[in-house]
Amino acid sequence: MAFVYFDHNATTPLDERVLEAMLPFLREQYGNASSRHDLGITARRAIDQAREQVAALVNVRPPQVVFTSGGTEANNLFIKGAAEILKPSQIAVSAIEHPCVSKPAEALARKGWAVRKLSVTRDGKVDLNDVDAALQTKTGIVSVMLANNETGVVQDVAAIAQRARAAKAWMHTDAVQALGKIAVDFEALNVHAMTLSAHKIYGPKGAGALIVDKRIELTPLIAGGGHEHGMRSGTENVPAIVGFGAAAELAAGRIAELAPRIEKLRGRVEQGLVRLGAVLFGAASARVPNTSYFAFKGIDGETLIIELDKLGFGVAAGAACSSANPEPSATLLAMGVAPEIARGAVRFSLGVANTANEVDDFLQAVKQVVARLKNLTAMAV
Ligand code: PLP
Repeated sequence: MAFVYFDHNATTPLDERVLEAMLPFLREQYGNASSRHDLGITARRAIDQAREQVAALVNVRPPQVVFTSGGTEANNLFIKGAAEILKPSQIAVSAIEHPCVSKPAEALARKGWAVRKLSVTRDGKVDLNDVDAALQTKTGIVSVMLANNETGVVQDVAAIAQRARAAKAWMHTDAVQALGKIAVDFEALNVHAMTLSAHKIYGPKGAGALIVDKRIELTPLIAGGGHEHGMRSGTENVPAIVGFGAAAELAAGRIAELAPRIEKLRGRVEQGLVRLGAVLFGAASARVPNTSYFAFKGIDGETLIIELDKLGFGVAAGAACSSANPEPSATLLAMGVAPEIARGAVRFSLGVANTANEVDDFLQAVKQVVARLKNLTAMAV
């Protein structure tokens, strides 16, 4: 039985073309990009090209790209690096950020910062009225994600950035879950910094970037030889960076074709799920096209996921990164979803290779599992 993967928000498979681009740098092109000889110069050129590819995907100039070990590091670099430079005041982050934003933000409380969580509406959108209310207090940093990893809801980042700039705060957005799914334009969003990750766009794990405003120099998390404009020292992971660049170029080339095709497949799955009695989360808002978040009342999400796995389908309970945490999704609770419903949450996220047949087989499997679990519950009562 083939395994059908519907968990692309957790990670994506490496694209074959990305692997091909990386292989020479895992084999014969092993130079250190800081070396002045032929091997070093080849590595440096490859990094320069990747920087151009990533920059082009988000409409910035190549020097604005600071390569990191991934989205987690880029988010930490911005929040901690900005907090080192600015005088302590308030940091405002949405209540639905990934832990690699919310945890470093919360840690700033120990350094004299006031930490303010921005509330979200029932539809999963950061409440602009609460942004206005928060900015009444002197604020140094605002961070709001572009697309939520669980619901897929796209936030009004440009509108929030406009407010943050008017209040003289630095505006950051974690665009990890938006990249490759919708157009992401740093200039149009009007932010000071943006986080990206390679493994969510069919690139390798362990590569990402912080895009920074030309005028901003952050205190590095990792000091050393001064790599990446002094913002991230350490010998560059050339194969991973090359893979990130190749994945960025592929993403730029296919987004116009991919988004409507994937959205159609999502519509097909959601129609089927609703017919089976599922409730959808965030579906009234604009979302990235690949993500669906749902629950069946009275059915535990973990159990549903395990049963679907046995039938050969990979889906997730809320955020994969918090699977060790049995509490219901913080995102759903922030949206005002009752805990007993939030405990049923299942995240379904499509990728480039998924087909309508796979979606139909998935719906059959859900129908079968839900009927069985409902019977068991009824017998237990
Ligand atoms: N931000 C969001 C919204 C994410 O979904 C993730 C990963 O799940 C990350 C950041 C972390 O990125 P990385 O896995 O590259 O560290």
